[in-house]
Amino acid sequence: MKIYPIETGNFKLDGGAMFGVVPKILWQKTNPADVNNLIEMSLRCLLIEDGNRLILIDTGLGNKQSEKFFGYYHLYGNHSLDTSLAKVGFHRDDITDIFLTHLHFDHCGGSIQFNKGHTGYEPAFKNATFWSNAKHWQWATKPNAREKASFLKENIHPIQESGQLNFIKIAEGANFNTFDELGFGILFVDGHTEKQMIPHIQYQEKTIVFMADLLPTAGHIPLPYIMGYDTRPLLTLDEKAQFLEVAADKGYFLFLEHDARHELCTVKHTEKGIRLKQTHTFNDIFN
Ligand SMILES: [Zn+2]
Repeated sequence: MKIYPIETGNFKLDGGAMFGVVPKILWQKTNPADVNNLIEMSLRCLLIEDGNRLILIDTGLGNKQSEKFFGYYHLYGNHSLDTSLAKVGFHRDDITDIFLTHLHFDHCGGSIQFNKGHTGYEPAFKNATFWSNAKHWQWATKPNAREKASFLKENIHPIQESGQLNFIKIAEGANFNTFDELGFGILFVDGHTEKQMIPHIQYQEKTIVFMADLLPTAGHIPLPYIMGYDTRPLLTLDEKAQFLEVAADKGYFLFLEHDARHELCTVKHTEKGIRLKQTHTFNDIFN
């Protein structure tokens, strides 16, 4: 098995929205804001090469939204999915599986592209199976008014229409499943959105956890540092508390999808609760 971080681009979001009730004077220490109060964000995906499977976790923003839409998100930098895949010797048509942690546009937008004649949409990975789960799919396709702006129809419906969509089964009452087909474990969490999926991957005798929006940046480790976007913030608080205890005990390497400065971090117990232990580049830890 071989694992590669895949940078698909950078964008900016309102720092206040990213930290909910936490005042700027605190969050700006870890996530400095620009003059418009925006903080830097990455769209960092993870590629797993395992036998004849090539699995991509999340797909970034994609490129099919309007200039006006992208204007709200201040894209910057030179990363793209195709160049990042090429750097490690792959093409998007090599991908066999796309695992979507959830269907917010910054996680699944790259899954779908315009077709040749610009008359409609098609999967941007023509040979891939797309993985979601039935409960999240239902939630995303009948969105509440608050999350509606994050669940874009054009990112979601064409996946189903392509016939390339598969649902992961969730054992009744369990919040952790092993997903044998793709060879990793999945933690299901409901605070950010219904049934977000957090992959736990065993690699080189360590555990990598793809944090998605359970922990967008290393600055979000203290428990009340929760995004304003979360639909059930008190549930996120419990889910984070439980997860971070285990992560500190077991020395998990937390892979940060949205942290523009840090690919990985570890956490530790302190008198104040769980705090950052160290940040790392992926290549520091894995070879
Ligand atoms: Zn999200």
